[in-house]
Parts: sequence; structure tokens; C-alpha cells
Amino acid sequence: MDKNERQILLTPGPLTTSTTTREAMLRDWGSRDGEFIAMTARVRERLAALAGAANSHVCIPLQGSGTFAIEATLGTLVPAAASGKLLVLINGAYGRRMARICDILARAYVTFETPEDVPPTAAEIADVLAADGAITHVAAVHCETTSGILNPIEDIAAVVADAGRALIVDAMSSFGALPLDAGTIPLTALAASANKCLEGAPGMAFAIIEKEALAAAAGNAPSLSLDLHDQWRVMEDTGQWRFPPPVQVIAALDQALAEHQAEGGIEARAARYGRNRRVLVDGLRDIGFETFLPDALQAPIIVTVRMPGDPEFSFDRFYDLLHGQGIVIYPGSVTIEPTFRIGCIGRIDEDDMRRALAAIRDALDEMGIAKDGLAPAS
Ligand SMILES: *Cc1c(COP(=O)(O)O)cnc(C)c1O
Repeated sequence: MDKNERQILLTPGPLTTSTTTREAMLRDWGSRDGEFIAMTARVRERLAALAGAANSHVCIPLQGSGTFAIEATLGTLVPAAASGKLLVLINGAYGRRMARICDILARAYVTFETPEDVPPTAAEIADVLAADGAITHVAAVHCETTSGILNPIEDIAAVVADAGRALIVDAMSSFGALPLDAGTIPLTALAASANKCLEGAPGMAFAIIEKEALAAAAGNAPSLSLDLHDQWRVMEDTGQWRFPPPVQVIAALDQALAEHQAEGGIEARAARYGRNRRVLVDGLRDIGFETFLPDALQAPIIVTVRMPGDPEFSFDRFYDLLHGQGIVIYPGSVTIEPTFRIGCIGRIDEDDMRRALAAIRDALDEMGIAKDGLAPAS
């Protein structure tokens, strides 16, 4: 494919980015350069401001994908067993991944799991916290990208704060598009990355952590490179990253954040993704597909589609036919039933969604699948 041809990535990330964001990566920066140090500071301030957390919290950027920031946040904030215990709320793969991280880091934890199409309720969480006084922290996923379900983060935050515990939010697939304001919602930390709703390039993630909690976390981390307290301390002292930063990725995020602001911030991005979702879901239903989640639980991030029951339907073939038209979709990851996923996020709009729907119709024609073949096998 031509390097200038636009790919429409309807995935959970990396995503379609603007040409200007990609162009921001065309030069070299020395990591100790004054200009680069100023860029890091600007990116950190903008990210903290997006979380409504400019005074109470700090943004600590970290090399790597989103999982690195989740692992670093849990390892830095949750003390070793004996003094710390995490409650992990699970309704998908990313909740399960946090439990796995606790296993590997040897952090004490319990889980509260609901089915992949069911959010936990505040009452259920209150019961778990009341029954176990040893729990110090609660980890929740804002939008569980496994299904695309929106978890009730305000309710969760309120009940966790009432119980006097600390909340850590995996905001990976929502940050920048769904409001999560640390000024109004009690939250100790959130983690997200550059290449989802912020529409930057992959390679950098970050955590936004309450200053007091971070200051108290010295020496907790069971890792050198994933120690956010140390990363923060060095960055505050020198303005520099501890280890070589992904300079081009930070430059791209700096540009992507400027474009986020120019678009109208979180509200405007939420509105655009919401329009993408509307066009996508209406179009898919019109064609004959069924969505996995009811509309009330569906975040404007990624849509899980039930796999058609027609034995002639092959996801791999469908994927290849769409790919041939510059449209990239994603396999499913819910465990309850066979599905695939189509994202609404990235630098894409309703016209791109209509193009994707036209490509989907073409692919179904090519495969010889009629409308009644799209109902899921029961
Ligand atoms: C993508 C994602 C992650 C992991 O981020 P990676 O960049 O894939 O490592 C974690 N949680 C959620 C909710 C995500 O969507």
C-alpha cells in the first residue's frame, strides 16, 4: 500500500491519526534539549488539565504501551501484601489483566466479577468493601474495551470514597473522549495512553496520580523502570525522563493535544465519536447485524457485533475483504459468544463510517451472505 494512502483503523488502537500529528514526528530531538524538556512539561500539564487535576494531581509519563502504565500504577501505589490489598472490578479482559498483574507483582487482591455485559453496581461494591476492611485500593476500568461497555465510574468513585479507600481507574480507552474529572470525582489515580482517544502515536502512556498518594509511595514499586515515584522525582528535579524517552511519540502527542483542544476538547471529541457510533450502529442494524450490548451500556468507543450464524460467513475472509478497501476491523474478545469489534475512535468521522458500511455491504455480497444469514447462531 502507498505510504500516503489513508488507512481507516476501526480498532481499539493504534488508531487513525491526523497527517499533522504524524508529521510532528519528522525531526530529531535530543532528550536533554531545552526545547524537548519544555515539550515534556507542556504535555504533562495538558494531560493533567484534561483530567481536571492540575493542582491536586501530577501527570507522570512512561515509555511503553498502556499496559506498562497500568502495571506501573498498581506496583507504585498498592503496597506489598501485609499493608495493601486491591479489589479489582472485572467485566472483561482488561479487568482480568489487572488481576494478573497483581499475581505477578505479588500484591494481595480480591476480585468482584460481573458478566461482560453487566456493570457492577455501587451497592455491590459497598458490600464487598464493608465485608473486607483489609482492602486499601479499588481498581476499575472506565470503558471495558473488551465489549465496549461503559462502567458507572462516578457511582464507583463515590462508593469507594465513602468507604475511605483509594480508587485507581484504567481510563485507557476513554481518556480524552469521556469526561473523568478528578476535580469533581474522587480518584487517586488514572492511567491512559497516547494512542487511543487522544489520537497520538503509540509508544507512550501516563498516569495521573494524587500528589499525596504518590509522595507516600516511595519504595513501593517492585520494578526500577516501572517505578512512577522515581520517574516523578527525577522529572520534577531535572525536567528529564529517567531513561531515553520516545521523543517523536511525545512530539506527536504534543501536536495531537493541540488538535484535541482546537477541536473543542473532551466535549467535542465525545460528540464526534458519538456521531460515529450512531452512524455505525444504525448502519450495522440496517444491514442485519446485531450488537452485543444494549444501547444504554454502549460507550462511543468500540462496538461489539454478534458473529453471523451463516456457515458461509468467515471472519478472516470478511477481515481481508475490508482490509483490501483500507478498512481495518478487530476480532472479538468477549468470552460469552463469538463476536467481532468495530471502533468509533481515532481521526475519523461519519463519512468514514459510511465508507466502512459500504465496504461491509460489498464484502457480504462478495461472500454471498444474505440479510437473514446475519442473525447470530443461537
Ligand atoms: C487498550 C487498553 C489497555 C491496554 O493498553 P495497551 O496500550 O494495549 O497496552 C488497558 N485497558 C483498556 C481499557 C484498554 O482499552
